[in-house]
This record gives sequence, C-alpha cells and structure tokens, in this order.
Amino acid sequence: MLTPALNNAAVAGKVRATIQNTRSWLPRFDRIGDLVAYMDRFQGTADTEVYKGLKSVGLKTFEDIHDEFMAKFGKFASERTRLDDFVVGQRYTSSQLVIFAELYDNRSGGILLIGNPPKPQAVFVKATFSGGKYPNKWISEPDRLKYYLKSRNAVFSETYIENAAIIKNPDLPVFVFHRLEERQPFTFAGQFRAERVVSEADGSKWFDLVQSSVISPTNRVDEGELRRTFAQKVANAVQTSREARLNRLKSAPKRPPTVATTAIAYLRNPDVVAEVLYRSQGVCEGCGMNAPFDRKSDGSPYLEVHHKMHLSEGGEDTVENAIAICPNCHRREHFGTRTWQ
Ligand SMILES: [Zn+2]
Ligand SMILES: [Zn+2]
Repeated sequence: MLTPALNNAAVAGKVRATIQNTRSWLPRFDRIGDLVAYMDRFQGTADTEVYKGLKSVGLKTFEDIHDEFMAKFGKFASERTRLDDFVVGQRYTSSQLVIFAELYDNRSGGILLIGNPPKPQAVFVKATFSGGKYPNKWISEPDRLKYYLKSRNAVFSETYIENAAIIKNPDLPVFVFHRLEERQPFTFAGQFRAERVVSEADGSKWFDLVQSSVISPTNRVDEGELRRTFAQKVANAVQTSREARLNRLKSAPKRPPTVATTAIAYLRNPDVVAEVLYRSQGVCEGCGMNAPFDRKSDGSPYLEVHHKMHLSEGGEDTVENAIAICPNCHRREHFGTRTWQ
C-alpha cells in the first residue's frame, strides 16, 4: 500500500515525503497495541492533503484499510506499552519515547506530555548533556537535574503547554531520560518532581528536578543501575564533610526501604563451570594457591568460575574464556586491577 504510492510519480512529492516518513515509523513499534493506537489516528482524517493526494490517483489510504486492520488486530489493542514498563537504568530510543507519547515525531522537543493537558498523567523529559546554548546538567548525579523549560526563540514562557503542565501540577511524575550526546539512546533515570522554576538574569528558566524516590512501588529498578547508583552515592558520601555525614546519620531511617528490581541474567552453561573446575584441580588459576576452603555441600574445593572477558562485555561462555579462581582473585578481577580481559 505504501510502496505503490512511493513509486507513483503522479503522487505529489510532499505527499510522498509524508508516506516515506510514515513507513519509517512502522517498524519501530514494539507492541501491537501501540501500532493499533497509531492506526486509530487515521480515522476521520479524510480532508488531509495526503488522503486527497492518494485518492486522486486511485490509491488506497490508511483510512481505507482502517476497518480491515482493526478487525484483524483490534483485539490486541490492550497490548500496549505502559508507564510502569519503563525500568530505571534501561535504555530507550527517542522513537520509543515519542511513540509512547503518541507524537510520532522525533522533533517534538524535549518535554513530552503523556495523556492530555491540562492534566496529563505524566511527563517525559529528554535531557542531552552536550550542545546547545542551554545545556541541561546534573546538579547532583543521579538525583537532581537542572532542566531548561521549553523555549521558542529564547523565550522560556511558563504558559507553553508543556511548561504549564509541569508548573500547574506539582505532583506530576516527571520521567527523566538522559544521554551524553545527540543520537545516542536515552537512559531512564527514574521519576522526578519539579521542585521549583529558577529564572536566570539572561531570561532563561529551568526546572529544578528532584528524584521522587526509588521506593515508589511502580518504579522498578534495574539491578545494575541500582548498583551503579549506590556506588555513586557512596562516593558522594565519602566526599562530604564528616560533620554533615554524622548529622544525616542521626535522622536516617534505621531500616532501609526496599524496592522491586529487574535484572537481565545470563543462562550460563553448567558444563563450562564443571569442566573449568575440573581443569583447576582445586588450585586457583589466578594466584596458584589452593582453594581457601571446601564446600559444605559436597566437600569439593571452593573456587569461583569467572569469565576473562565478562559476559556483559560480549565475552563467550566457553571453557577457553573461563577460569576457576579463589574469591580474593575474583574480587580483584572485578574491583581491582584486571589480569585478564
Ligand atoms: Zn587466587
Ligand atoms: Zn567474575
């Protein structure tokens, strides 16, 4: 349906460009329900230039196939991406975010409203930390962000729909997606809240976005991200003055809050582990010392099987890429100087 239109010289160039754009979006849908929502838009739009352009040369349009499409796929309409499908620490393309916001246009700007103004369900902000006159940046990574209001020609009006939605709904969850440079995918940093709007002398304005809390039950956190974030927070805590730290400790909760996590795990080959343990004969392949103790379960020497090139780096789960090492050598390999890679 799209190809004949693209190949038909009688179809105006502008119309063909729109169709080309539409075709480029179709493969980017992750769930049928999202595609159904997209197709649903081509209902009652018969007065558009594209519709008339295609009709005038006798071609079919999205409007024409709408009913047939819905008869086939409408039953999957509920199979859609949801807000709580977004996992902290995972990466998302700009297209995925724009599809979720039902905008289908990568030039829609950095603030995407989810649901209808003036009372949207949430807002997505896309932060790029380089380029532009007003680069967004962490005030403290990863829980406080300086994020410029939507602007047009250097006017940061609080009445622009996107800005107003955030300002007028102080409890609106602000989903922060960030990346270092253009063209990279975004990493989801979690749900934030706009604490205040700060006006600068040059007329620019920015939101002070503060992370709501990782304990929100709908905020599922990726385990790797949780580990990295915690390491970052420890580094920050080490750097603050001891006095400030002791003060914080005084009023800190004694029982830590919990959070639901998600993780991607590798389904490792047990034969690789068994074979590498056999090869080691109970001697650490790192330092050459005997295993430090025997396993309570079966009395075998306790060594850990490690991948020289980590699986997360694309390393293979093979006997050749694996070694049996003692817990000390294993920790050093991950947190100290690496012997293998
Ligand atoms: Zn060792
Ligand atoms: Zn390891």
